[in-house]
Amino acid sequence: MTMVETCSHCGALFTVSCIGGGGICGACQEPIDCPHCKKIVRQERTTGTFTTTLVKAPDSALAQYLGITDDEWDEMDAELQANTGHSGEMTYSYWFVVPEGTSDELLAKTGWEVDQMIAGIPVWVVEPDEPDMASFG
Ligand SMILES: [Zn+2]
Repeated sequence: MTMVETCSHCGALFTVSCIGGGGICGACQEPIDCPHCKKIVRQERTTGTFTTTLVKAPDSALAQYLGITDDEWDEMDAELQANTGHSGEMTYSYWFVVPEGTSDELLAKTGWEVDQMIAGIPVWVVEPDEPDMASFG
């Protein structure tokens, strides 16, 4: 039995197979882990264990934040700038200007205009590998 799941944490698409089911042991809750972000998507009762296989990695956090796909972001060829405030030592957020030549479809989809400044992009969507603030203290 194979199920297709979408990770609620990162949006990755993956398949779930149950192995070793049908044993004499009673069913218990087994976690289904996302193969991409490794987080537990949910738990389900089974007598076996679940194995997951990545089908499609999610779009980057930045693309998801902007409501577009990675391909659209690449195609737009916008240049991300860091907002480092006055000190220049710490990045507070990111911004970019919608480039000339951005497709009409993308402008319609996002509601942006050419030359519009898109500011306040959180650092964590640009640098998702950075530990987030919640993990401190
Ligand atoms: Zn995930």
